[in-house]
Amino acid sequence: MEKILEAIQNGATGDQLAAIPLPSTYRAAHVLKSEEKMWEGVPSNEKDPRKSLHVGEVPMPEIAPDEVAIAVMASSINFNTVWSSLFEPVSTFGPMARLGRESEWAKRHDRDYQVVGSDASGVVLRVGSAVRTWKPGDKVTVHCNHVDDQDPSSHDDSMMGSNQRIWGYETNFGGLADVAIVKANQLMPKPAHLTWEEAAVNALCNSTSYRMLVSKNGANMKQGDVVLIWGATGGIGAYAVQYVLNGGGIPVGVVSSPDKADILREMGCEAVIDRKAANYRFWNDDNTHNESEWRRLGADIRGLVGEDPDIVFEHPGRSTFAASMYVAKKGGTVVTCAATSGFMMEFDNRFFWMRLKKLVGSHFANYKESYEANRLIAKGMIHPVMSQVFDLAQTGEAAYQVHHNMHEGKLGVLCLSPQEGLGVDDHELRAKVADKLNWFRR
Ligand code: NAP
Repeated sequence: MEKILEAIQNGATGDQLAAIPLPSTYRAAHVLKSEEKMWEGVPSNEKDPRKSLHVGEVPMPEIAPDEVAIAVMASSINFNTVWSSLFEPVSTFGPMARLGRESEWAKRHDRDYQVVGSDASGVVLRVGSAVRTWKPGDKVTVHCNHVDDQDPSSHDDSMMGSNQRIWGYETNFGGLADVAIVKANQLMPKPAHLTWEEAAVNALCNSTSYRMLVSKNGANMKQGDVVLIWGATGGIGAYAVQYVLNGGGIPVGVVSSPDKADILREMGCEAVIDRKAANYRFWNDDNTHNESEWRRLGADIRGLVGEDPDIVFEHPGRSTFAASMYVAKKGGTVVTCAATSGFMMEFDNRFFWMRLKKLVGSHFANYKESYEANRLIAKGMIHPVMSQVFDLAQTGEAAYQVHHNMHEGKLGVLCLSPQEGLGVDDHELRAKVADKLNWFRR
């Protein structure tokens, strides 16, 4: 890998990169099938990603005709890597075993280890024989929608594909590594004004928020919409705030500390709720709902922006869902992509049907949506929300911080890149947006 890194740093051509032999093994953050039962009986908040995420050498797989091998310069931590490391809500070795039964090439995914990670920025090293639009030397970012392009169900909205998967979560050969193997239709151009690590943190969260708010497949936000955003300085929330502001909407950001509230204000989000200070108790101790607390949240929102939310950007799940369904405006939309605090939801259906609300389930994004979201990053219209950078060897620690909500925005991870700050090609655009690149770096 040293020769490959040296060549990239010296600006080698694609032909020169393609001529360097790939090593037989590479460094990767991975979980082990032999450990998938290690947390049995352990409460979720006591499971420790630092124990289940290993960083070490794994074998280099062969690439399929529709795939590319990438030298990963940087990656990021997503919550799905936390889920993989907790083997929760399911072990990811099950989905990979099912994938392994689909074809000869897919068999490679079913191993006794899984290289995790669903984001990457880097340089294409090899392309399979069927790849037309990318070549060695291309600087890329990777989105995580792993699609079977021979399945008819993938050809309207590929997220509807019957065997659609998330790369690096439900597949092997993920991005938290020195090399990643991805399908060519996961590639997008690297935004030229960003460092490797800034470019690596966006694709998963940015594309998810784009689909949830901007796409016709999501809440289809319009100018003037009031949007309640839970976790507004978290991974997906911090992109959601930017989409609402860019689209002429009015974000109401919910966070849990004065520091996070300051970040929101710096981003231009004027209506901020500190949920810790407000101390909402949506659930009573006996596991029943406290409706008066939903009303208090609604009154707080109205106090800030004068009306109820047209859209609620929901993902905490069990702890907030009933309140989200209640506070949405008559005819409004709750769009949800997750359930961090628990996935068995309850809500009062009377306020839902009588007020003609909509509930939209959303999951990642198709290639077109991811590409549009990446284009906005590349044009300097949406910005990375990176707060800290870790080395690949510290993947477990970084995942631990996300698991315990100790972080803000996104955590970058340096893979082959030996230090922060490398990889910028467009210094002019960078200078124009410099202050926005530091929203989360404190
Ligand atoms: P994150 O960086 O950890 O941010 C989540 C934010 O939610 C936190 O910053 C926290 O903000 C807030 N939060 C956490 N627990 C909460 C609770 N009980 N009540 C209210 N707010 C709470 O994670 P993320 O990357 O944004 O991801 C969020 C969720 O979406 C995860 O479950 C992830 O797996 C999921 N996700 C799904 C998709 C998909 O395609 N379906 C894509 C990306 C992410 P405060 O403490 O400041 O309020």
